[in-house]
Amino acid sequence: MVAYLRLRFLHLLHRCVIFLPKRCTLLIDHKGPQLKKRLFTPGPTPVPESIMLKMAEPIIHHRHPEFTELFTRVNENLRYLFQTQQPVLTLASSGTGGVEATFVNLFSQGDTVISVNGGKFGERWVKMPRAFGLNAVEIKTEWGKAPTADQILSALRQYPDAKAVYLVHSETSTGTATDVKSLAKLIRENSNALVCVDGITAIGAHEFRFDEWGIDACVTGSQKGLMIPPGLAFVAVSNRAIKAMETSKLPKFYFDLRKALKSYEKNDTPWTPAISLIIGVDAALQLIRTEGIENIWRRHQRLATALREGIKALGLRLFSDSPSYAVTPVWVPEGVEWKQFNKILKGKYGITIAGGQDDYTGKIFRISHLGYYDELDMVSMLSALEMTLKECGYPFELGAGMSAAQRVFAS
Ligand SMILES: *Cc1c(COP(=O)(O)O)cnc(C)c1O
Repeated sequence: MVAYLRLRFLHLLHRCVIFLPKRCTLLIDHKGPQLKKRLFTPGPTPVPESIMLKMAEPIIHHRHPEFTELFTRVNENLRYLFQTQQPVLTLASSGTGGVEATFVNLFSQGDTVISVNGGKFGERWVKMPRAFGLNAVEIKTEWGKAPTADQILSALRQYPDAKAVYLVHSETSTGTATDVKSLAKLIRENSNALVCVDGITAIGAHEFRFDEWGIDACVTGSQKGLMIPPGLAFVAVSNRAIKAMETSKLPKFYFDLRKALKSYEKNDTPWTPAISLIIGVDAALQLIRTEGIENIWRRHQRLATALREGIKALGLRLFSDSPSYAVTPVWVPEGVEWKQFNKILKGKYGITIAGGQDDYTGKIFRISHLGYYDELDMVSMLSALEMTLKECGYPFELGAGMSAAQRVFAS
């Protein structure tokens, strides 16, 4: 009897110690394996399940007709994405490598290039050409402001021999869009400078027409609007850019775009391509073709608009004067501490957003809506934002942001 009772007791104790606390934790603080992770950062962006499954299939060989067939389709669909008949070259690197390829392939030491610096990425396109011995002229714009026609014109007048103007279509650090269409026209009409575009968060979010707008080089990366993991850069080149490659004297080997172009003509690559990622981008581009690029631009505009209406309805302030459709930066409201805010958002709701950079660290946060997002993603983001702000003590009426976004979607 005693032995039996002891056994019962131990059994009960076991239940209490092992099972109960575990279950309680699940119920009380929402932590545990069931917390759904939601990525709202402007690169990497979420990868659709169908694409992940494709990339998990056994690897194929790149010098085999199977790959050639796939890469032929990728190249055709990349031309569609960039709205061009020109070559779009695929490099095994992140977006930065793609931009580096434009500098080392189009210019020679001492050449002047004009670069718009309105944030972290624009700043990079001033530093990078300097590292290669180019004379980089900087047009500095305040963070959150787009470059004006006057700024570009005066730089072109001051540097009539400039070989190129570099524009950042969507400056991710500030969520600011540049009017590439008008500025490209202006540059073309007033100079012989090549129009080079960092389209890394713009491609797949903003209207972009490489041929029609007279762009000479445009770069994007795989982990942005293309919805696949990082590791690929895509570089579209005009005939003028191809011509510039013939006289460029800067050293290059792996990123020699003449080699890439030669291989591209045979739907091939000069080096071992990042096969799994190319399989991924093939699947992504098929999704893009099915939805239609114009519909994708419209979807991004709609999601961005609804999110912003929601944010304004909460009494929060938007950061940019010329908002990008890829990412929305917001001022951290007074009385809210960014670190605590971010901790709750991530720990309790599984949401990863981006903080501010440089002078804006802790002052702004950035919510991405680039790539694989829909209307309910924006509503749930706003819902988490509201609950987090409430917990941080920020005063507003619960539901105000969500319903403002819902009204946009319902209209
Ligand atoms: C992400 C990003 C880059 C850098 O690309 P990496 O893939 O990180 O090298 C450059 N420009 C813009 C606008 C970006 O958003």
